[in-house]
Amino acid sequence: MSFIEMNHIKKKFADTLVLNDVTMHVEAGEVVSIIGPSGSGKSTFLRCLCQLETIDSGEIMVDGKVLVQTPEGTERAVYAEPQTMRGICRKMGMCFQQFNLFPHMTVLENILEAPRQVKKMKTEEIMPLAEELLHKVGLWQKKDMYPSRLSGGQQQRVAIARALAMEPEIMLFDEPTSALDPELTGEVLRTIRQLADEDMTMVIVTHEMAFAKEVASHVIFMAEGKIQEEGSPQDVFEHPKRERTKNFLQSMI
Ligand code: ADP
Ligand code: MG
Repeated sequence: MSFIEMNHIKKKFADTLVLNDVTMHVEAGEVVSIIGPSGSGKSTFLRCLCQLETIDSGEIMVDGKVLVQTPEGTERAVYAEPQTMRGICRKMGMCFQQFNLFPHMTVLENILEAPRQVKKMKTEEIMPLAEELLHKVGLWQKKDMYPSRLSGGQQQRVAIARALAMEPEIMLFDEPTSALDPELTGEVLRTIRQLADEDMTMVIVTHEMAFAKEVASHVIFMAEGKIQEEGSPQDVFEHPKRERTKNFLQSMI
């Protein structure tokens, strides 16, 4: 069994089917990139995985545990008990386009907050990891600053460190560089690449085609709520089979 199994996910908003039978499996240590035009359901798909949205039908399993399944012969998803859902949620770190740092907290306090509140850890217990993570993203010297004093790229690196402070087993990124000025995307992509080099399991929704090609082990092209094509970066970027994929890749150059 894969670390993440999302099978036949369907999701509607009102009467619109935004995920139409989407299946994705992610092995531990693998990096999956999801690409596709705006409005194709990429964010919704990630949000279903980390429980920010509910699915209508299908099945999600994380590390062998069932988060949600749809009993045979029915069309209605049934979620696990809240405690099981919380346990599964804790395995996942999420990083969004908008960094969503706590504005009234310093960089260091942002990192310490979730381990304190969720894991009930003491500051001194978290500090070694907090320090290591802030060094890793190159922001230890900014630890006492407030987010508003940092550049977008620095804020996003803090957001990544903050997610890592919960020691997730998988990181989910939703267009982590889309809100950044072009000259600031490189530093964030370098941080994510470093995680890939350390074999962090990741799912990355991105418009950065060169980055997806380089960092991903598997690429999924989504459009209109469906997976249109998937495969290795070489398959999808260099030998796309479908016109839909070719047109999209052309439009991204
Ligand atoms: P992407 O991330 O690929 O741009 P989204 O997952 O954000 O696509 O959106 C997929 C579709 O679902 C779009 O048509 C969008 O307008 C719609 N959608 C997303 N979130 C909501 C919501 N909370 N309520 C209603 N419709 C939504
Ligand atoms: Mg999106």
